[in-house]
Amino acid sequence: MDFDLFVIGGGSAGVRCARIAAGHGARVGIAEERFWGGTCVNVGCVPKKLLVQAGEYGAWADDAAGFGWEIRKGPHDWAKLIAAKDREIARLNGIYRRLLDSAGASVFEARASFLDAHTLDVGGTRVSAERIVIATGGHPVRPPIPGAELGIISDDAFYLKRMPKRLAIVGSGYIAVEFAGIFAALGARVDLVYRQPLPLRGFDSDLREALAEALGAQGITLHPGCSPQKLEAGGDGRVLTFGEGHRVQADLVFFATGRAPATKGLGLEKAGVETDHAGAVQVDQHLRTNRHHIYAMGDVTDRLNLTPVATAEGHALADSLFGGNPRAVSLQNVPTAVFSTPPIATVGLTEEQAAELGPVDVYVSRFTPMRHTLSGRARKTMMKLVVEQASQRVVGAHMLGEDAPEIMQGLAIAIVMGARKADFDRTIGIHPTAAEEFVTLRARTRVAGVAKAAE
Ligand code: FAD
Ligand code: NDP
Repeated sequence: MDFDLFVIGGGSAGVRCARIAAGHGARVGIAEERFWGGTCVNVGCVPKKLLVQAGEYGAWADDAAGFGWEIRKGPHDWAKLIAAKDREIARLNGIYRRLLDSAGASVFEARASFLDAHTLDVGGTRVSAERIVIATGGHPVRPPIPGAELGIISDDAFYLKRMPKRLAIVGSGYIAVEFAGIFAALGARVDLVYRQPLPLRGFDSDLREALAEALGAQGITLHPGCSPQKLEAGGDGRVLTFGEGHRVQADLVFFATGRAPATKGLGLEKAGVETDHAGAVQVDQHLRTNRHHIYAMGDVTDRLNLTPVATAEGHALADSLFGGNPRAVSLQNVPTAVFSTPPIATVGLTEEQAAELGPVDVYVSRFTPMRHTLSGRARKTMMKLVVEQASQRVVGAHMLGEDAPEIMQGLAIAIVMGARKADFDRTIGIHPTAAEEFVTLRARTRVAGVAKAAE
């Protein structure tokens, strides 16, 4: 065999796995066909967060007047922002590539696909490996409607030549909600068209309600309960028809309608690797596919599609196979944030999920953050704890408000450790912060889940 381990895909999962395995002394090869660092670095988390931050500066310039500053906000220069973002991404690409080189991995800038269970075609070269890791990630999908090809997807949004003045976004998942906030903050008129009554299906319902209010407060026009019907060219832009024949005219229509695992053309059938109906590679808790020497990790397995999960899996597999430290990554209590405006962060169970398991004490607080008592901006913060009644364990924490992701990372440790409400209560707050509200929530808002327990 040419390699002890060959990794297909140089994204969050693949780079970490290859780098750590090579560091443990394994003979490692890795192939990347498009960009080192994958989705997160190039068309995901990193450039997205830079765009969110660009929007925040505009809002701060407006809000400063309430604090006595006279700041005259000029127009925003989209081309300058994108050029600065591109420079930073190029720097990160280089770092990812160099990390692999210095770890001693053999790097292939090419597409890889299976020829058989131990052999790959890597850009025309045959390579064989004892073990193979599939870490090919995913790609955005458009909805199956006429004219869908006229709309953009998230990959395109990072490279637009001009800022749209008017934008319609379809969907209400992470990407739709984040980009609605970005473009609205940079001055576009944004319509958000989604088929649920509230955005972010699967999140806690108080959060979803607070988010719908926050999107409205940001000036975004919401079209809940609406499925897209067709997209046409019209005027200078696009016309989207949705719901019961409603139409919206926009410069651009952005489909943020989910992602699909990148398994087409990988030759999985030649290796005998099974996928589900959507093309996601099926794995056990040790990331093994049905072929025991072939592994898969990250978005291509379509479980929890988040960068820290992908990197944790890459690290755990390398340590398990070559580092004498076998372990699996738990997908329970994984904290997550949606970088909406303001952001959302959450860890553990929603009220609805917890109530399915039995009685829960629910604590909710909504308030105007201190900054906005002077800025005058109509922006609220919402914080919530979900506590299992019998054990008094805090099983869920949810927040919408400025700094929510920064606050939730620390709370996640407490929840992973099994903290009880009394542990939160005996912790002294840091004043004056929004975060202190999490340790001063004394009055129970309601009890839920009693009916389920009675069943
Ligand atoms: P990827 O990063 O997609 O890497 C897969 C790599 O494999 C790609 O570089 C691809 O080119 C390569 N590849 C595919 N097929 C082949 C082949 N046959 N041969 C060679 N190379 C191949 N997550 C967060 O945690 N926080 C965020 O804020 C966040 N924001 C996001 C914003 C957007 C717009 C998007 C789209 C995603 C975001 N995510 C975020 C999700 C995160 O980017 C993914 O979960 C993460 O990148 C998954 O890593 P991965 O290694 O599994 O896949
Ligand atoms: P999501 O799965 O989060 O959301 C997809 C959205 O598209 C949902 O609102 C869904 O509606 C809607 N949709 C799907 N198909 C159709 C259709 N045919 N017609 C109309 N609407 C449709 O996907 P995203 O693309 O937003 O993001 C992909 C994943 O990437 C996320 O789930 C997350 O794991 C990751 N990510 C993480 C981020 C972070 O950590 N901050 C940021 C961005 C992405 P419905 O709810 O009705 O099904």
